[in-house]
Amino acid sequence: MIDFTRPRLGKEELDAVADVFDSGWVGYGPRSGAFEAEFAEHLGVPPEQVLFLNSATAGTFLAFELLGLGEGDEVVMPAISFNSGPNATLSCGARPVFCEVDPWTLNPAAADVEQAITPRTKAVLVLHYGGHPGHIAEIAELCARRGLALVEDASCAVASRAAGRAAGTFGDMAVWSFDTMKTLVTGDGGMLRVRDPELARRARRLSYHGLAQPADGFTPPPWKTWAFEQREIARRLLGNDLTAAIGSVQLRRLPEFVARRKELAARYDERLRDLDGVRLPPPVPAGHESSHYLYWVKVHRDVRDDVARRLHEAGIPASYRYGPLHRVEVYGVDCRLPKSDAAADETLCLPLHQGLDDQDVDRVASCLRDIIGS
Ligand SMILES: *Cc1c(COP(=O)(O)O)cnc(C)c1O
Repeated sequence: MIDFTRPRLGKEELDAVADVFDSGWVGYGPRSGAFEAEFAEHLGVPPEQVLFLNSATAGTFLAFELLGLGEGDEVVMPAISFNSGPNATLSCGARPVFCEVDPWTLNPAAADVEQAITPRTKAVLVLHYGGHPGHIAEIAELCARRGLALVEDASCAVASRAAGRAAGTFGDMAVWSFDTMKTLVTGDGGMLRVRDPELARRARRLSYHGLAQPADGFTPPPWKTWAFEQREIARRLLGNDLTAAIGSVQLRRLPEFVARRKELAARYDERLRDLDGVRLPPPVPAGHESSHYLYWVKVHRDVRDDVARRLHEAGIPASYRYGPLHRVEVYGVDCRLPKSDAAADETLCLPLHQGLDDQDVDRVASCLRDIIGS
């Protein structure tokens, strides 16, 4: 059985974890700070902007809290998004408004986002489908022009770049996920980036019980470690030094991971190029770099589920990401989004991870060829 996704973790990560054991401190501490600094350097932003959390979802909830979203506010996001977006929106009393995506790229154009904006819109949340940056620069420009906050869900886009800038640096805030299915893995874990320095300081407080932090100028003398200043009411959302140590190693290996994924995606392209009834993913536009997080093909909606079933029977897991969220009843949104429906009903993601062999790709491709041909 081929894995749909599988992290690449080895001796280097184990050694890093052993060092944390030896250090006598496994909670959020020096290794977390080091991982934040390394990740900030990877993005090309100041380290103060970056905060290591226990998940991207925690970061999304925190981002919306920092933006002060509440009753009467709306957040625009593509219907092809992960559930954490509307969950975070509704949890703070605001309303998600879903916009269309291009049914081939599964990313929204700036015009798709703009169509969903109303006088109540306060923020826009977008991801970079499959690792392709999409129209992120145009969407950032739109948000700036309309006075809206932009939050990037860069969970697919840990190594993606557009016009010389890292995905996740276009918005006012961004989150990354390092969960077990991602390109860079820490077990559970996520990063939050906050551009505004005051909000970034507040993010640190809100991620640790609302207590004043060194960044707030609060550093009690070492002989009085019990001193605290409760500034506001909050939860605990931080990552820890065990997962951070894994993250540091994975970040060093990231270029190798992405290069391998790029090779495998090109091999799928080559093996499936002339197959009628299967549309390959769009090429990465000039000036963009993708993390190659997903490899997705389009097949006719009448056969998509059956193709997935027959691949599964052949020991090949195919899947689909994300949503469609406008059809999720508990979100209470009633709208017609035919392009998003097409995206959700015609897309199939094939196995793609840095641990796949060339032969695995060949097997998936030839199996898909047999199924489509019959
Ligand atoms: C994985 C993923 C998330 C959730 O990440 P967690 O770290 O598990 O909270 C959010 N958005 C997207 C696009 C994802 O792929």
